[in-house]
Formats: sequence, C-alpha cells, structure tokens
Amino acid sequence: MAQTSWRIGFVEPVDGPGPPSRRVRIARPVLFLLSLVVLAAASSFASPAWARDESPGRGGPGKAVDPDRFDVVVLDAGHGGHDDGATGPSGLHEKDLVLDVTKRLARRLRRSGIRVILTRSSDEFLSLEQRTAVANDARADLFLSIHANASPSRKPRGVETYFASLDATDDAARATAERENDAFGHAGRSFDPADPLTAILGDLIETEHLLESSEFAKLAQAELSEVVRARPRGVKQAPFVVLMGVRMPSSLVEIGFLTNPDEEKKLRRKRRRDALAKALAEAVLTFAERYDRRRGVSLSARSGSASTR
Ligand SMILES: [Zn+2]
Repeated sequence: MAQTSWRIGFVEPVDGPGPPSRRVRIARPVLFLLSLVVLAAASSFASPAWARDESPGRGGPGKAVDPDRFDVVVLDAGHGGHDDGATGPSGLHEKDLVLDVTKRLARRLRRSGIRVILTRSSDEFLSLEQRTAVANDARADLFLSIHANASPSRKPRGVETYFASLDATDDAARATAERENDAFGHAGRSFDPADPLTAILGDLIETEHLLESSEFAKLAQAELSEVVRARPRGVKQAPFVVLMGVRMPSSLVEIGFLTNPDEEKKLRRKRRRDALAKALAEAVLTFAERYDRRRGVSLSARSGSASTR
C-alpha cells in the first residue's frame, strides 16, 4: 500500500515498509512542486463563503473600477484550530493574537475604502491551498500573512517583516520559516539547497512581484518599529511556503516575540494590538499610493486614512 498520505498540500512519509529515506527526500520536493503547480492553476478553486467580504470596495464586489488600481487586500491570520502557533509563557496563543490584530487591521482598511478579504475569521485551521486560493481568487493587490514570533531564548523581541525567497537571510530567518511552515506539514524541510528541484521551486516565487513585496516589507518594518520600541530586526527573506503560490505582492509579518514575557504582556493589551493594526494600515495605504502611481492610476482621495476612527 502506498506509504504517503496524499492531500494537495504536503506529503509526509509514513513509517513502515516504505521507500528508503534517500528516496523520501526526493519524493517530498516532487510532490511539493506538484502541489504548487496545482495551486498555481487553482484559479477555479472557489473561495468559501466565509472568506468573502461582501462589503463593496471602491468598484463594488469583485470588480474594480480600474483593474490596475490597488483596491483589494487579502489578510491571512496565521494558524488556527488545532494549530496554536507559538504560545507565550503565560499562555497567549499566536492563533488568537494574530486573528484579533488581523480583524483590527481589516476594519481600518475598510474605513479607508480598501476591500479586505480574510482567509479566516474564526478559530479554524486552513490548509495552505485554501489560503492561497482565497488570495488568487480575489486577484488581490497584496497578500499579507500575520504571525507572532518565537525563540528558544526568552530574550529576542521586536518585529520582523519578510518576503519570500528560497535563500534565508540568516539562520534565525530560516528557523522562523521552518517553524511557520510546520503548520503545512513540514513543507519547509523540502528546501534542501543541494537538491536541483529546489531551483525549480524558486521559479514559483513570482519574481515579477519580488520588488514590490520587498517594498511593502520595508514600509511595514518602518511603521511597526515605531510601535515596538525595540532595535529594528529588519526586513528579511526566507522560504515561507504560504507566500509562494500567490500571484501578487506578498509579505509575512511577525508582530512580536510571544516567547519574550514582557512582549507577550504588551501583546495582550488592546492598545498594543490597535497600534500594530494602525501601523500596518499605514504601510498598506502608503504602498497603495505608490502602487497606483507606478501604474498611472489617477489618485483620488480615499475615503479616509488609517488613523480615521
Ligand atoms: Zn506563525
């Protein structure tokens, strides 16, 4: 009997009379590659009703006035359901924290006339392909995945913003990507630089959007650093699989270290969460203006700014 459990996502070898480990190492990237190809073709994958935001955007539901115009953002709250993500020393779960910040950010962006779609709006687990499909179906102009960090040490603190790359900026960035990728079945461990298939995977990171993705990551880093008064940890690159199947500029932000007791305490507060949401909204709106300007879209005033209450 086949010794792999097949779902479109990622394949884990099952103990038993399966192939030797050498073959497993190759099989994983192959299936991972296949799954991403499926994802790339998944435009017909209907997003579930709960993921849709029926509030009309600037051009009404699903239809922009100007197809080039920045008007749709997909926000992805990390983890959910059985997957708690990181957990702080006093028990705050990443999945709950990031959902709350995501909803606060969504409210701010909607007040500014941006159409916002959430990959999840409750405590439930979503597969990688569901998250990606929501973004691609919506033809979003930006995909933003929101997470909180963890470290084996209690010391690290501060925010990190990422855009996708096969090569991690450093060991810490690689470890962060591996931890976040774990939610999708150890996909992150498929990234063996010595494996020629890894190079093919790299092509699935949409290079045309890399510049804009890094631009957003920089804007978000600058805004978030003003909220979290810690030494800026900088914009980094790492192979986050959730950013790889999306056909638009994308970024993943780590809004603080849950493993730092002081930071966890602050992250429990509404004030900190709202400040983080406001900072991210400012970054999105600045990015939107630049995005429109580059595409020659005429700039009319949006219906508000991120700080409008
Ligand atoms: Zn996470």
